[in-house]
Amino acid sequence: MHDFRYVNGRLYCEGVSLESLALKHGTPLYVYSQHTLLEHFRKLDSALSEMDHLVCFAVKANSNLAVLSALAGAGAGFDIVSEGELRRVIAAGGDTSKCAFAGVGKTESEIAFALKAGIHTFNVESEPELERINRVAGKLKKVAPIAIRVNPNVNARTHAKITTGTYENKFGIAFERVEEVYARASKLRNIKLRGVQMHIGSQLTQVKPFAEAVAKVLPLVRSLKQRYGIEFFSIGGGIGIIYNPALASGNAAWWRRPAAKGLLTPARYADALTPLLKPLGLKILLEPGRFIVGNAGVLLTRVEYVKRTGKKNFVIVDAAMNDLIRPAFYDSYHEILPLVKRRGAEIPSDIVGPICESGDYFAKDRPLHKVSEGQHLALLSAGAYGFVMASNYNARPLAAEVLVNGTKVCVVRDRQPVEDIWKFEKLPPWLA
Ligand SMILES: *Cc1c(COP(=O)(O)O)cnc(C)c1O
Repeated sequence: MHDFRYVNGRLYCEGVSLESLALKHGTPLYVYSQHTLLEHFRKLDSALSEMDHLVCFAVKANSNLAVLSALAGAGAGFDIVSEGELRRVIAAGGDTSKCAFAGVGKTESEIAFALKAGIHTFNVESEPELERINRVAGKLKKVAPIAIRVNPNVNARTHAKITTGTYENKFGIAFERVEEVYARASKLRNIKLRGVQMHIGSQLTQVKPFAEAVAKVLPLVRSLKQRYGIEFFSIGGGIGIIYNPALASGNAAWWRRPAAKGLLTPARYADALTPLLKPLGLKILLEPGRFIVGNAGVLLTRVEYVKRTGKKNFVIVDAAMNDLIRPAFYDSYHEILPLVKRRGAEIPSDIVGPICESGDYFAKDRPLHKVSEGQHLALLSAGAYGFVMASNYNARPLAAEVLVNGTKVCVVRDRQPVEDIWKFEKLPPWLA
């Protein structure tokens, strides 16, 4: 489900032609659809309406202030993993009392900052962290609201780099140890036990692993509620999206397609989990990132060269792995479409960036209509884990970002000026 579609042979984002944006703002260019973004939030939010709940957007998926501001306006909370992300939420006008602070490596100064900002909870990932939060809160004469992250030791059956809920991973506290840790935490003076949390992985496309994990943790959650009066259970994020539409068919929104039976949708997610969760009588927190923003963004790029070798047809574009690292990092699939629809035969093409790494590709042997220098392509589903993972590798400036709302367009991040890349570098006096 998204608002990127062809109108009279031109690819549009809502009411705006993407070709016009590429020509006006240059490439590489990230473009986000506000309607898609908010629609995904609302779909999930309303699927859970039978329970007291809070959807906390995982800021790490896309932390642009405009994205955060739009979601804050819709009532979202935020899942943050650093002081920087918390500061972004504040800068975007988000509500700190709806922020959950996750991550295995919170520093003392990050903890102090979050305590002063009045966040909803710290999701505690280890016993030493629990002690540290208690100590920092004591110094500030505050009480820190916490949830312990349970590692349920279930396999989410997703990519190895985004599996988090087994004992092979660095996340959370082992299921068997959790009661002991709550007992210990309940004796700490500057800690308030507020909830329990888990997150088993990312890009899950079936409901089963979620249901399994929830079912496994349920008795524990019940006992924690009884003993310590906890208020909430956070079931994490991880709802996957369709990157390759060939995997599902038809023109309807993918979660309505009969061919997509069994695939994860907000309705299926809620149908499977509500009967388990509702009887708990706790507030349910969610931490989705990709589901909300993944299909709400595209990366536009210009074809620089077409290079035919004996074996391959290389389409060399001006975006690279420094702009969007997902294909190189996770072998991920992104649908690639020309901004002006083309006719004729498709040829297997490698769509590659200009960086001196063989990992710098977006697709290999992908059927693509013939394109030539100066034409533009869109890499779809680039809204999550796209711009946020960009780097200056090869001294390439960070791309610009644009938000579309109907026919309105706003540059929500300027293209980085090239001199900014070395702004904080200095020559030592003996070389100057
Ligand atoms: C990354 C992460 C999320 C968000 O994951 P998505 O797959 O983008 O929904 C949520 N919670 C935690 C703890 C995370 O680490």
